[in-house]
Amino acid sequence: MSVLDDLVTDLSRVPGLGRKSALRMAFYFLKADPVFLQRLGEGIAHLRERLKRCPRCGNYTERDLCEICTDASRDRRTLCVVEQVQDLLNLQRTGEYRGLYHVLHGVLAPLDGVGPTELGLEALVKRIPAEGIEEVILATNPTLEGDTTALYIRRLLGPQVKVTRLASGLPVGGDLEYADRLTIARSLQGRLAMES
Ligand SMILES: [Zn+2]
Repeated sequence: MSVLDDLVTDLSRVPGLGRKSALRMAFYFLKADPVFLQRLGEGIAHLRERLKRCPRCGNYTERDLCEICTDASRDRRTLCVVEQVQDLLNLQRTGEYRGLYHVLHGVLAPLDGVGPTELGLEALVKRIPAEGIEEVILATNPTLEGDTTALYIRRLLGPQVKVTRLASGLPVGGDLEYADRLTIARSLQGRLAMES
């Protein structure tokens, strides 16, 4: 049954999928509608070529600029910096935030070779005057790396702009990805100014 073994091994690499769930999924596929399987397979195969990073904010998009950057109804004076696109989606789900975003796709991790250049922090700094941003909300996770990254960005931005950090409603060491809607909304409302 090597074809099944190979599939289960591959599926087990997906975050959150253990071997048991992968096996259950494989058996489900074995009996599933072929049209569904075809669509699913193609969806996975073409995901990376169809979905690009928005050159302005880093959000994923199929177009030149993402939905948020092109949405004229959003508050263009506020910019929220997040680690991952999942964090952006979570903030969006709360409906509490109407501004723009900047996705870092990571945090500063010098030991892993991730420095300011790898995170594209220069592009972030340039956006502030170029787009007339009045407030930057640093919404990196309340972890050691997230806090370090926030402090670094705070220093980098200097006194040119108001900078705030999400209030500590989020559990320490807890990721924004797993925070519930109410917690995110509360930490957004209670955000604190970070002095330069
Ligand atoms: Zn964008």
